[in-house]
This record gives sequence, structure tokens and C-alpha cells, in this order.
Amino acid sequence: MVKQIVRDPLFLQQKSVPATEADKQVVIDLIDTLKANRDRCVGMAANMIGVKKQIIVVAAGPFIFPMINPVITKKTGKYETEESCLSLDGVRPCTRYKEIEVDYLDQNFKPQHGKYTEFTAQIIQHEIDHFEGVLI
Ligand SMILES: [Zn+2]
Repeated sequence: MVKQIVRDPLFLQQKSVPATEADKQVVIDLIDTLKANRDRCVGMAANMIGVKKQIIVVAAGPFIFPMINPVITKKTGKYETEESCLSLDGVRPCTRYKEIEVDYLDQNFKPQHGKYTEFTAQIIQHEIDHFEGVLI
């Protein structure tokens, strides 16, 4: 189900907790909501639809994939950039890494490990920041 985007900074600054299999519908809602905003959005964290759980969805070309409880295990190639966010106005400076490795659960809650580079890596880093209440 497509959800409304949360723009309240007080809510968005709160931390997210790990997701469980009881949150499977949240994963589906998040995918639906990203699809509905795909023209202006490349990724989304669950708190952007009002659920403080560690779930993100990432758009890579025509594909959208969810990552549940993702943890960055390795990062290399530090650089400075600027990003915007559907939940916020304007563009903000931030530090990112060109290559990252991530442990996460897939949509079936099976453990996965992936390597990501460039723009996809940047999206994942931005969305994971939302778990800590970091707003960029
Ligand atoms: Zn964001």
C-alpha cells in the first residue's frame, strides 16, 4: 500500500529498531511507496512512512530491492558530496564511501551479503543514516 511521506523532523530524528518477520507488510508498503515516488526518489527508509524499523528499499535502474536490518561491514573510498531527501527540503553536504559491503536480510528474511559501488552504495548509506535519525 502506498503510504504518505513523513516530513516531521522530530519523528525522523528518532532511532529505528531491528525489523522482525512481523514487519513483512512494512517491506511491501515501502516498495509500493518508492514505486509511487520513483520519478523523484531513489531510495527510502521505513521511518519515512512512519515505521521506526531498520528496513530500506533501494532503486537500481529498473529494479527496486529491499534490505532488512542492513549493516555496513566494510567501506572504502571516502569522498564528500551533497544529497537531498524526499522528507526534507534542499541539498545538504555529507561524507560517503565509494565501495561498501553490507550484511542484510532479504525480503524472505534470509541472510545476504552484498558489495555495492558508486550511486547504489551512496543510496544505501543515505538510507541507513535514517536509522540513526540522521537527516541529510
Ligand atoms: Zn533521506
